[in-house]
Amino acid sequence: MTVTRFAPSPTGYMHIGNLRTALYSYLISKHDGGKFILRIEDTDRERLVEGATDIIKSTLAITGLTYDEGPDVGGDHGPYVQSERKEIYMEYAKKLVELGHAYYCFCSKERLEELHNEDATGGYDRHCRDLSAEEIEAKLASGVPFVIRQRMPLEGTTTYTDCVFGEITMNNSELQDQILMKADGYPTYNFAHIVDDYLMGVTHVVRGSEYLTSTPKYVLLYDAFGWERPNYVHLPLLMGKNADGSVSKLSKRHGAVSFQDLIDDGYLPEAIINYIALLGWCPKQSETEFFTLDELKSLFSIDGVSKSPAVFDFEKLLWFNGEYIHKLDDAEFTRLCARFIKTDIPAHINKDKLLSLLKTRVSKLSELDDKMAFFITLPEYDKELFFNKKNKISDLSTVLTVLGEAKSILTGVDSFDNDTLFSALAPLCEKLSMKTGAIMWCIRIAVSGMAATPGGATEIMEVIGKDESLARIDSAIAKIS
Ligand code: GLU
Repeated sequence: MTVTRFAPSPTGYMHIGNLRTALYSYLISKHDGGKFILRIEDTDRERLVEGATDIIKSTLAITGLTYDEGPDVGGDHGPYVQSERKEIYMEYAKKLVELGHAYYCFCSKERLEELHNEDATGGYDRHCRDLSAEEIEAKLASGVPFVIRQRMPLEGTTTYTDCVFGEITMNNSELQDQILMKADGYPTYNFAHIVDDYLMGVTHVVRGSEYLTSTPKYVLLYDAFGWERPNYVHLPLLMGKNADGSVSKLSKRHGAVSFQDLIDDGYLPEAIINYIALLGWCPKQSETEFFTLDELKSLFSIDGVSKSPAVFDFEKLLWFNGEYIHKLDDAEFTRLCARFIKTDIPAHINKDKLLSLLKTRVSKLSELDDKMAFFITLPEYDKELFFNKKNKISDLSTVLTVLGEAKSILTGVDSFDNDTLFSALAPLCEKLSMKTGAIMWCIRIAVSGMAATPGGATEIMEVIGKDESLARIDSAIAKIS
């Protein structure tokens, strides 16, 4: 069975790159009907951020990336929070010492600092690598603080095959005797994730490509224990576009890169998931770019993952999001809007009609207030706004005539719905020998005070109602006269 995991460190917000890792990891297991595990990697106690684990869990819940095992839901391999598994790591680290692939290191902080100052590029000088058994015994007995380090081979090479990047080889001489257990009794990430992935039966390790070159150290640990190595699926880098056209690692300066910031800006979780699924993967044969999570589950395959860096395009995400919003049913759209609309909508406004007009005209929900502002309050506008080449309107007397006629017709209309208004105004074309477009242009400017609006003149009047429409036409007439 395919078993994957998402193993975030709770160090802050949920970066969109982390979410992509979670998604791909989820899809790889679910494509095969396998298991997806959430594991919280919190052994770096200095980087912990309060509340970060909750953000991780709620993000997975909102996006539908349900885990089969993990904190809260439990499972056969718990606990799923590394700080609660401390004893397990120490036991395995000692086993590795016995096997000769790790050793106790008693070097003091001061010594290591000195070492670092002397040679900032080099790492540890293997000072404790060959202490005698007696020396080690004595130091342990007298309580000298220690760390446990991995004993790297000094010669030869280590190779593994990544499912995306292919064969990766490192010279063993370049591998540091890295720390596995720290002086505070916590394991390092380098060690803990190996033990956990093994114990949890993880078959595919899916993560960012920043781990590509440290993985030789990890496969050596598997080999040292005599465990079968997992499959590695390292994901391509996520880049952001810079102002000068170049690209660099996706970060805050490119825009909102946290899932929560995007949600707060009115992006829909489904749109985000759909878009990020395509950042580094593409389906083999597909006419469309739109996929639900279920469709992704059945389509996703590792051989569709690319190793070239993927560029996060905010414009494209916005477009995706707009498409998702436009397809919402009205009731769902209204429900989602509630959190975003700060405007007090007066009673004379036909709110349902307003929202259905806006639905197909926003790309993210945070645009709602701006887009609806002119319905609520007529903006200041200049009478020159009525001039329009396409509709051949170049003198204000024509506008005055249209508005005067429109006013007298509209005064007699009781039901201010789009169709009724449209048929009521239709005879004006013949009467004034003008095209519908030109007549509607004049009325639309008068009732909106804007050159471009969501909806045409009659739709806008349906939203703002009879009294307000007539008042706006009156004020246009006054402005021009
Ligand atoms: N805790 C690591 C991180 O957040 C996980 C890396 C991995 O998936 O192995 O980067």
